[in-house]
Amino acid sequence: MGTDATHWCVVPAAGSGQRFGGDFPKQYALLQGHAVLWHTLHRLGAHPAIAGFVLVLAADDKHWNKLALSALSESPLPDGNRAGVARHDSVAATSKPIITAIGGHTRADSVLAGLEALPGEVAPGDFVLVHDAARPCIRHDDISRLMEQASGGDGGLLATPLRDTLKRAGIDQRVLETQPREGCWHALTPQIFRRGPLAAALLACRDAGIAVTDESMAMEHAGFAPRLVEGREDNIKITRPADLALAEFVLRVSSP
Ligand code: C5P
Repeated sequence: MGTDATHWCVVPAAGSGQRFGGDFPKQYALLQGHAVLWHTLHRLGAHPAIAGFVLVLAADDKHWNKLALSALSESPLPDGNRAGVARHDSVAATSKPIITAIGGHTRADSVLAGLEALPGEVAPGDFVLVHDAARPCIRHDDISRLMEQASGGDGGLLATPLRDTLKRAGIDQRVLETQPREGCWHALTPQIFRRGPLAAALLACRDAGIAVTDESMAMEHAGFAPRLVEGREDNIKITRPADLALAEFVLRVSSP
C-alpha cells in the first residue's frame, strides 16, 4: 500500500435494482460506453487515499466476471448504447486491488459481508469508506472533505440539506402532515466509519430486527453521533432509468 493510500472502501453492488427494472441490475447499465460500476470504481480508485476495494456482489451475479476478464481484450460498446448490459470494458476501472465478496438479502447484510472480507491489515479501529455502486458521479473533493472532516471520532457521511418541503403521506396518498425541513438532510455515500464498531452496529441491528438503510443509521442505534459533511447534489444514485441521462450529463461536465 502506498503511504498516501490510507482507506479501504466497501462497495455494495449486490442489489437487484427492482425500481430500475429491466433484465439486469442497474450497476451494469451503460453510461458513456462503460458500466455504472466501472465509473464508480474508476472515480474512487483514482483518489490517492483509496487503498483498495471490497466489491460485494450478488450470489447469482452473471456480469462482473465478464467485465473484469474482458478488461484485457474487448472494446467498449458505443456511447449512448443503454439497451444492454456492459459486456466488456477495454480499460480496467482501477489499478487498486479489488477483493470480491458475496452479498446478502439487504444492503446492510451486503455491507457486513464486505466488512468481514476486508484484509487483515485493516484494523478494527481503522476508518473504512462504504460507497454505493449505483453512485458513479462521486468526486474527489467530496471524498477528501469527508475524510478530513469525519475520519475521527464517530465518523460521518456525505449529505445534502433538504431544500424542498417534506410531506408525510396518509391514506390514498393524501397529505397527513407537513414536516419541518429545518435540520433535515439527505444521506448520501460515501460514509466513513471505523471497521469494528460499524460491523458491531450492523450486527446488533440485524439481531434486533431493525432494518437499517445506511451505515449511519446502524451507528446511531449504537449510540454514535455521525457527522454530516455537506456534499455535492450531483452525487446521484441511479434508481430509475431516467437517472442514467442525468448521470451521463454529470459525468460529461464534471472532472472526477
Ligand atoms: O437499492 P439501493 O439503491 O438502496 O441500493 C444501494 C446500493 O446497495 C446499490 O449499490 C446496491 O447494489 C447495493 N445493495 C447491495 N445488497 C442488497 C441491496 C442493495 O449490495 N441486498
